[in-house]
Amino acid sequence: QKRNANEPEFLQAVEEVLESLEPVVEAHPEYEAAGLIERLVEPERVIYFRVPWVDDNGKTQVNRGFRVQFNSAIGPYKGGLRFHPSVYQGIIKFLGFEQVFKNSLTGLPIGGGKGGSDFDPKGKSDGEVMRFCQSFMTELSKHIGADTDVPAGDIGVGAREIGFMYGQYKRLRNEFTGVLTGKGLTYGGSLARTEATGFGLCYFTEAMLKANGKSFDGKTVVISGSGNVAIYATKKATELGGKVVALSDSNGYIYDKNGIDLDCVKQIKEVERKRIKEYVNTHPEAEYHEGCKGIWTVPCDIALPCATQNELDEESAKALVANNCFAVAEGANMPSTPEAIAVFQSNGILFGPAKAANAGGVATSALEMSQNSMRYSWTFDEVDAKLKGIMEGIFEKCDSASKEYGKEGNYVMGANIAGFQKVAEAMMAHGIV
Ligand code: NDP
Repeated sequence: QKRNANEPEFLQAVEEVLESLEPVVEAHPEYEAAGLIERLVEPERVIYFRVPWVDDNGKTQVNRGFRVQFNSAIGPYKGGLRFHPSVYQGIIKFLGFEQVFKNSLTGLPIGGGKGGSDFDPKGKSDGEVMRFCQSFMTELSKHIGADTDVPAGDIGVGAREIGFMYGQYKRLRNEFTGVLTGKGLTYGGSLARTEATGFGLCYFTEAMLKANGKSFDGKTVVISGSGNVAIYATKKATELGGKVVALSDSNGYIYDKNGIDLDCVKQIKEVERKRIKEYVNTHPEAEYHEGCKGIWTVPCDIALPCATQNELDEESAKALVANNCFAVAEGANMPSTPEAIAVFQSNGILFGPAKAANAGGVATSALEMSQNSMRYSWTFDEVDAKLKGIMEGIFEKCDSASKEYGKEGNYVMGANIAGFQKVAEAMMAHGIV
């Protein structure tokens, strides 16, 4: 606690996991002798570096860059890069810690890592973003590699940023390897990677609903955010028969009782890079409300928070319960506060935690790594079918672990335990390292 006192998000993530692991640790006294938990919560390596770049006015700017290589017991470090002004070491450590369990749950051979910068791509020109990405990669390239650490995108890091960083890596190292995922399709990217986190979230949710005698069909869905995860969650939830009626950004939310017109949202967010409120310009029947938190007061059956950490608090959780929402699954990382999760669990709401529900992105990134290693590309349908199988498998693992430890339906506990088991066994096999 004391060691990480200035990193509240990291402490929050660790506390939730350790609480779930109590019965497993009790059943394995050898873990204590091996200092397993103490080693698990300490990153293998934290890299912190200066990122200098020159803006369009010729002025030198300096940002902070981070890469936390958290755990490589089951494979090379793998996890996204986040560019957002709120980024500091504690955010990257919380994300890296979560990533260890998430990656394990996918069943694929990937360890956990995360990185990023306090750089804000919003309002920057393409030239500025490129110069920043080149500077960032100049340092990061010394620490990553296709068999060492393979970063991907996250908040503020999409196809454009990955392209600039990949170009710089290739130039510095003179090698064409799968060192980043989320790449463009012309240079080693995987079909369905763009869609993977949002689609995977819906496949997980569908499996969770089915196991409890429910489905998306005919249900009203609220999704927060309007970035990569939110957009493709909207697409898949709609394909599965749901009606998505609200989306948001950090300024406010839109409500369209007829169901969100996703083509319009994609044009605003992916092409024009504008704010979600633009939606009402072409859809006068829809409403725009200032303040992103209000989205949780929109009546719905299923809520999918897909924006950012701690965006859904106790009050919002109570509003969802009051409106008879019966399922919540997390597309973002740690979007629900511990108090909100307690409200869901004490009111019988089906709750799919992030490390299980949003693992589709990293799972498909691992499939991109496999394709790069083979110098081969699978079709969209092949990748999508593998993704669906992986997400259903993750739900199965969470469900059976929750049953094994006498907490049936507690998928938070199920995900933490199932993710932990493989990492713990590998760490024990490797000795005290
Ligand atoms: P993007 O940058 O594409 O989108 C983030 C979206 O969330 C933006 O619309 C942003 O709006 C909005 N947002 C940020 N803060 C808030 C807030 N407080 N309330 C409402 N909206 C907000 O990121 P992604 O979609 O990639 O990531 C979203 C979440 O999903 C993150 O938690 C990320 O870690 C997680 N995730 C992403 C994966 C991926 O493959 N992309 C994989 C697994 C998890 P604005 O423009 O105003 O900032």
